[in-house]
Order: sequence, then C-alpha cells, then structure tokens
Amino acid sequence: RRPPSPARARPAAHHDDAADMCRVRVALRIRPKNAGELAQGADFDTCVELQPECKKLKLKKNNWASESYQFDEIFGENSSQKRIYEVVAKPVVESVLEGYNGTVMAYGQTGTGKTYTVGQLGKDDPSERGIMVRALEHIFSSMSLETDSVAVSYLQLYLESVQDLLAPEKTNIPIVEDPKTGEVSLPGAAIVEIKDLEHVFQLLQIGETNRRAANTKMNTESSRSHAILIIHLHRSLKIKEENTASIPSDAQYTLPGDLPLVLKSKLLIVDLAGSERIDKSGSEGHMIEEAKFINLSLSSLGKCINALAENSLHIPTRDSKLTRMLRDSFGGTARTSLVVTIGPSARHYSETSSTVLFGQRAMKIVNTIRLKEE
Ligand code: ADP
Repeated sequence: RRPPSPARARPAAHHDDAADMCRVRVALRIRPKNAGELAQGADFDTCVELQPECKKLKLKKNNWASESYQFDEIFGENSSQKRIYEVVAKPVVESVLEGYNGTVMAYGQTGTGKTYTVGQLGKDDPSERGIMVRALEHIFSSMSLETDSVAVSYLQLYLESVQDLLAPEKTNIPIVEDPKTGEVSLPGAAIVEIKDLEHVFQLLQIGETNRRAANTKMNTESSRSHAILIIHLHRSLKIKEENTASIPSDAQYTLPGDLPLVLKSKLLIVDLAGSERIDKSGSEGHMIEEAKFINLSLSSLGKCINALAENSLHIPTRDSKLTRMLRDSFGGTARTSLVVTIGPSARHYSETSSTVLFGQRAMKIVNTIRLKEE
C-alpha cells in the first residue's frame, strides 16, 4: 500500500477555516519608559495613545491625532512576557506541533524591545522568558521524548550573508530551495538536537555571545543584523492509514510501510534588524552598506506581507535572503505572527509611525479575508 500523496491529503478539520490559517496575526507592544524617559518626569512627551480595550491606538503630534489603528492585540507597557507568548506565539507553536510550518517575527526600531520580546533568556526568572525559550518549553512539554525530536539552528543574517551563530566560522551559508517540495534548507548550518531546557539556555547563550562577538569584529551593533532561530520538529505519530486524511496537506512526511508516520515541521523565530532609517550623510561606509541591506530585506519582507495581505498568488520572496529563508514558513497553510514594537517617546514619532504603518499593512490580510467572508 502506498501513502496518500500530500496533494490528496486534506487538512485536519479544525484547520479547514482557511481564513484563520492565512491570517498574519499582528500585535503591537509598547516598551515601558526607560530610565532616561522616566527622568524627564512631567516633561516627558509621548506620541502614542493606547486604547487597549478596543485593540487600537492613535499617534499624536503637537495638537494633531491620527485615526485609530486597529491591531489583533495591543500590549501596554505592563504586559507580561507570558501573555505575549500566549497571544502571539502559542497558536503558531500549536500548529507547528501538528505538522505545519510557522513564523514569529519581531519588527521595530532599535531599543523598542524586539530582543526582549523574542530572545530574553530569563534563566533564573521564568517570568522574564521571551518567545524563543517559551516556544521550546511548550514543544518539550507537548512532545513524546521517546519518539519525537527537536533540533535548532541559530543564524544571523548580516549584509545578505548567512552566518551560523552556533558555529561562527561558518559564514556565507547558502539558502537552497528544493525545486520539488519547495523546502528551504541551509546546507552546512549546524542543526543541534536538544534534549532539555538547560541545553536550550546553553545554545541560546552561545548564539548570543557569537552574535555579539561577530558584530564587534565587524564594528557594528547586533541590532543591524537579523537573528533567526529555526526549530526543527520531527514527530512520529501512530496513525492508522485510514486516518491519514487528517494530515496537513503540505506537511512533509514519510510513511515507511504503514507506521509510524513521521511529521516534519519547523518554526522560525526572527528578531529582525532595527527598522530605523540611518542618516546616510553622517554615516561611515559600512553603515551605509548595512542600511542598504537592511532596507532591502525589510522592504522585501514588507512586500511579501503585502502580497499575502492581498491574497496574491505570487509572494515575492526572491528579492532578499531574509524572505528566501522564510519562503516555506510563510503564507499558504503556514502560520505567521508579527509583533511590532514601539517606544513611548514623541522624539521618535517618525520611526514609531513607520512601525505602526508596517504593522497596519500586515493587518490588511484580515480585512481581505473578512471581505471575502461577508
Ligand atoms: P531591541 O531589540 O528592539 O533593540 P531591546 O529588546 O534590546 O530592544 O530593549 C531595549 C531595552 O529595553 C533593554 O534594556 C530591554 O531590557 C528593555 N525593555 C524592552 N522592552 C521591555 C519591556 N516590555 N519590559 C521591560 N524592559 C524592556
């Protein structure tokens, strides 16, 4: 007996809601005032007015206020890391546990809390843990240690070159797409199987140290590179052949004989480079290069998100290495969540406004689908 072809297998019943699957969920998080902002006391001026109860915010400048911008969720300055995980990442992780690919990304100006949201380790204080650690904790607690395995790759994308953060001597790692399955791989990048949370902390710490070391060597800041954690999940499920209709239609799986069924999926967690514009006039050569590549990758990410939002059949992922890496974890039945992070200060009105508008473009997908449903 032959396994059913992935094309014939139907998605699981609770994934039939195509609208839900296609949605890019977009949450906005505002960082609490930092020490400098607190020190301004009553002189502190903000450009953001939150309306978290209706998931909206307005931007303010002098006596002007913008229209209300709607998000899937708004996280005020007192929101917990736990709540962010539950709203932003948990649905994606649940779908990855079922055999789908997924992506969680943080976008925003440097200093607004992307790394805190995504990469905070919180080794000694679990309440501080960010999305990477919580996602792996969640996966560990949901999988069978006897039959399933989880492995990670941790990469940095700087000046359109992929570097391995777990084996920093490996640079210029190619991004290869299987022409038949569309599966993206990075030949040569370390894929380290992990057994427990302690090992997770070790690897993330190594990655963080290597990211800092690489950036010091290149005389740049970590915020000028994208950090990408890829979690590879292999699950062996005991599924009777008559039940294979419940396998995700695009899940990559093999049926060696009848049983067991191996589900392969991956989750990309991306701490994007700072979205701020660099003042090119006063910048040195390498900063101009950085700015060029960051603009290229973030604008190509923006274009892909727009294409998804417009339900376009063609998602232009080829324009940058960032979007090429995301190719198979983005769109289709893969789930995507985006957190856009902003600071509260009016001094950064222009960057804050551009972050909010980036998030709004990604929100369009909801509108498109709602329109279709109506
Ligand atoms: P980014 O990655 O966007 O450059 P960081 O995550 O490094 O920003 O955050 C800048 C600083 O603000 C860090 O010291 C971080 O600990 C702090 N910070 C950011 N967001 C929060 C938050 N929600 N609660 C407490 N501290 C935060």
